[in-house]
Amino acid sequence: MKINFNQLDRTYFKFMEEFDRATKDVLSSGWYVLGSQVSQFEENFKKYIGTDYCLGVNSGLDALILAFRALNIGKDDEVIVPANTYIASVLGITENQATPIFVEPDQYHNLDADKVEKNITNKTKAILVVHLYGQTANMNKIKVIADKHKLYLIEDCAQSHGSTYNGQVSGTFGDIGCFSFYPTKNIGAFGDAGAVVTNNVKIYNKIKLLRNYGSKVKYQNDIQGLNTRLDEIQAALLSVKLKHYPQLLKDRLSIVNYYLSNITNPHIKLPRVREKSNSVYHLFIIESKFRNELQDYLSKYHIGTQIHYPIPPHLSKAYKHLGYTIGDFPITEKLADQVLSLPLYDGMTKEEAQYVIDVINRFKQDE
Ligand SMILES: *Cc1c(COP(=O)(O)O)cnc(C)c1O
Repeated sequence: MKINFNQLDRTYFKFMEEFDRATKDVLSSGWYVLGSQVSQFEENFKKYIGTDYCLGVNSGLDALILAFRALNIGKDDEVIVPANTYIASVLGITENQATPIFVEPDQYHNLDADKVEKNITNKTKAILVVHLYGQTANMNKIKVIADKHKLYLIEDCAQSHGSTYNGQVSGTFGDIGCFSFYPTKNIGAFGDAGAVVTNNVKIYNKIKLLRNYGSKVKYQNDIQGLNTRLDEIQAALLSVKLKHYPQLLKDRLSIVNYYLSNITNPHIKLPRVREKSNSVYHLFIIESKFRNELQDYLSKYHIGTQIHYPIPPHLSKAYKHLGYTIGDFPITEKLADQVLSLPLYDGMTKEEAQYVIDVINRFKQDE
């Protein structure tokens, strides 16, 4: 058997007629940017998340860039961000000339709320919380800290579509929730796409201007904006995806539970979820001291895996000028050496999961 890390065409073929029809409807409508499909998807998505407003944008990174820009966070400002995250979280900050202040993760791989306060200075303007791998961060504690220090709270929900903490959906805790619909995300488009959600009408109006050249009325430009709009075809396709997401998520979680109850290899640490938190398992992350060996072994058995992420942002070449070195964030760096993401995708069958389980359970067991 051969198991790819991802298998994005499965969902397309499963709902092919609906996706094809949605695409044709847009193509034949003669209207391709900021039309009825985008408005409809924004309606659908804000209803799903439970916010007052939603704006479709071009990508998850753009959602983050717009969030900080809308709050006037920029030069000389500091933003708290988890050290263990995808680089886009940090780029959202630095694209606005603000400074990222990295904080180590807790045992659930998310921002350690107990380490946030000692990193707050008089320059701190916001906390960017990332609900990494699908699991909602410790929002109770983080919200208390943000309120106490009057900091903006922005949520990177690129990996957490529909995850909850204490029954509340990620993206609704802070001032702005930023979503990505990159094809591999839990709700994935067929190209780049993203969205911001908020309950604040002022933020909504500002981002609406910013995403479209700073313009409300064509050729009248009120502020310096960008061009970062969700396009009609992606919006139409996303509405189809969103409609099926509850079932797709249920199926994903049943594969996750199958992994959790059947992977028994003592060299492998399985992911855990915080009390009151839930995870939509964007990724299924295991940890092993023998990570590289395990990855090679799985690849020999035609099982595709990935590492999220092999180089933490503070050690990436792009941020060399920030002056960090190995050892500055040891928990994050250890994760980078030990995490491995197993295959998990919409439409994955139990037989495929069983094959992965069987191969993994034999790792280093016959010596
Ligand atoms: C994917 C991702 C992003 C960026 O989304 P794009 O749509 O690829 O720009 C941001 N943050 C996290 C945590 C992500 O996983």
